[in-house]
Parts: sequence; C-alpha cells; structure tokens
Amino acid sequence: PEGVFKLPPLGYDYDALEPFIDAETMKIHHDKHHAAYVSKLNQAIVGAPGFEKKKIEEILINLGAVPEAVRKDIRNQGGGHANHSLFWQTLKKNENGKPTGELARAIDANFGSYDKFQEAFIAAATKVFGSGWAWLVWKDKKLVIDSTANQDSPYSTGGVPLLGIDVWEHAYYLKYQNRRAEYVDAFMNVINWPHVQRLFERVAR
Ligand code: MN
Repeated sequence: PEGVFKLPPLGYDYDALEPFIDAETMKIHHDKHHAAYVSKLNQAIVGAPGFEKKKIEEILINLGAVPEAVRKDIRNQGGGHANHSLFWQTLKKNENGKPTGELARAIDANFGSYDKFQEAFIAAATKVFGSGWAWLVWKDKKLVIDSTANQDSPYSTGGVPLLGIDVWEHAYYLKYQNRRAEYVDAFMNVINWPHVQRLFERVAR
C-alpha cells in the first residue's frame, strides 16, 4: 500500500560512484534498505495521528512529541528515511574537489583547515562502534563533527546534518567487506561539495 512517506529517487545511475562505491551496493542500499525504512515508517506513522502531515525532519527534531508506543519505530525508521534521503543527495564523484566559498571559510574557521576537517571526519567514521553514521553538522552556529548510533539523526540533538557517511555494513560490505577504513577513505572522493555548500548556506545565514 502507498504510504505518505515516499522513497525519493536516487537521482543518478547506480554505477555513478564507481569505483568508489559499487553499483550493486547502491542498488541494494537504495532500492531495498532505504525502501524498507520508508515502508516501516509508513506503518509506524499510523500510530501517531497527525504526524503524517509533518516533514520527517520536523518529527525528528522533537521525538518527545511522538506517542510513546511508536516513538522508537519512528526514531529508527524515520531516522533511516531522513538519513538516507540526505545521503543520496550528497554523493557525486568530485574529482578531488573540495569545499569552496563560505563553506570552505567555515571549515577553515572551525577545524583549522580542510585537511584537519578530513582527518577528524575520517576518524569519527572509523570509530563508530557497530552501525551508525558520522556527520558534519551545523549546531549552535558552528560546524561540528558528530556521530550517531543506528539511525539516530543529528536533528534529534539540535543539529542540522549537512553531510553524513553511512557506516552500516550494508553501505560497504559487498566491495570492502571488513575494511571500513578503505571505504571511508574512498568516500572522500564522492562528496558532492556544491550540494553540501547549498545546504550550509541555507542554514548558516
Ligand atoms: Mn544505509
């Protein structure tokens, strides 16, 4: 059955990120994993009348308002939906591209340099124990690096996620198996910085 939350299209071909992220992983990740979060979110939202009219980000900002019986499901499935919706949009082969403009200046101001940002982002992604995400987040008028367990969203702790790396094994296991660090390094080649920059400019002014 059709639910109120929809699986957004990937927006590019499954093989668009090869060789850094393989086509098979992209297909299963988007068409199966993300689709399952959407489908289970649509089941859970039935238990929270009125919430189906809200944007998922809005719901995640204030999970305490969600009826307790479905709060955990909405946190997990809704987080999965929001996290992946952002993830697809922030991926594009960047040919060693780096942030520019206001975002580049903010990265320098908050982390010292792009290289220091990259080091910290990679360290955060590598350190997540089990399944979760590492993030570049706009919080308290600053850029910060954060990580969340499972499908928890930075929105739920007062941040706005600008970029996230999915370190669930389903995001890399087919190509990288247990070598998460290789996947994390490869990920730096598929960050769509112009998109991250647009998100940043939207929240930072
Ligand atoms: Mn995932």
